[in-house]
Amino acid sequence: MSDQQLRADNSTHPPIVDISGVQKWFGTFQVLKDIALTVARGERIVICGPSGSGKSTLIRCINSLERYQEGRLVVDGYDLGAGQKNIDAVRAEVGMVFQQFNLFPHLTVKENCMLAPMKVRGTSKRDAQELAMRFLTRVRIGDQAEKYPAQLSGGQQQRVAIARALCMTPKLMLFDEPTSALDPEMVKEVLDTMVSLADEGMTMLCVTHEMGFARKVADRVIFMDRGEIIEIGKPEPFFANPQNPRTQAFLGQLL
Ligand code: ADP
Ligand code: MG
Repeated sequence: MSDQQLRADNSTHPPIVDISGVQKWFGTFQVLKDIALTVARGERIVICGPSGSGKSTLIRCINSLERYQEGRLVVDGYDLGAGQKNIDAVRAEVGMVFQQFNLFPHLTVKENCMLAPMKVRGTSKRDAQELAMRFLTRVRIGDQAEKYPAQLSGGQQQRVAIARALCMTPKLMLFDEPTSALDPEMVKEVLDTMVSLADEGMTMLCVTHEMGFARKVADRVIFMDRGEIIEIGKPEPFFANPQNPRTQAFLGQLL
């Protein structure tokens, strides 16, 4: 893989994510091997690859839910290896959406959305409420604001999780298989929400096997296997003509 492919096109602005030489082990098992990647502001990246290849671990390193042992990971100018202050700064501007929605069950939908702005940013209750309603409406779920998560469908809960992340006005959104736990009929409503976010220019790193989504919105698609980035390219050549045999085998299985 050429160095050119690993670097984002937009070189006039500093990248929002700049990863170089990142290595991570769980005990003696190396889960990330010499990861290098830059993500430009406004860029949409899809990460795919077999189960256990390190996709979640990579995403989790980007907002410090996991630590890495070697290399450098810089998000919006904050070096994650340089102390808790930087980690807190990064977490405040990176939104994360998980496979399991991770909503607080004892809070209403609206309260779920109000919590972080109030706690992390010191937003007033009134402003947090307004923010929550703005983004719940934005994901077309404003009418569910007073309900509890358990009263909602999976697709609705995931849209709440997206709205909750948006309430922090993130500079970057990380998605880790956001549709994998959903019944098939609910996948589309969540993907549609993600597509509209992408259309509005949100910078996104999405782990997903929804290849229709990847074709539609991704600027680049990354294939990971056994802790390494094996292949990276624009969607058209990536899907039409994958170079690495492991990418070919993986994509072959998806079809
Ligand atoms: P993916 O998201 O691509 O399925 P993960 O990043 O979740 O892969 O996991 C990569 C590998 O690391 C897997 O083999 C998994 O079992 C292992 N792993 C993940 N988390 C831990 C952990 N906390 N402790 C030990 N091993 C882990
Ligand atoms: Mg995973």
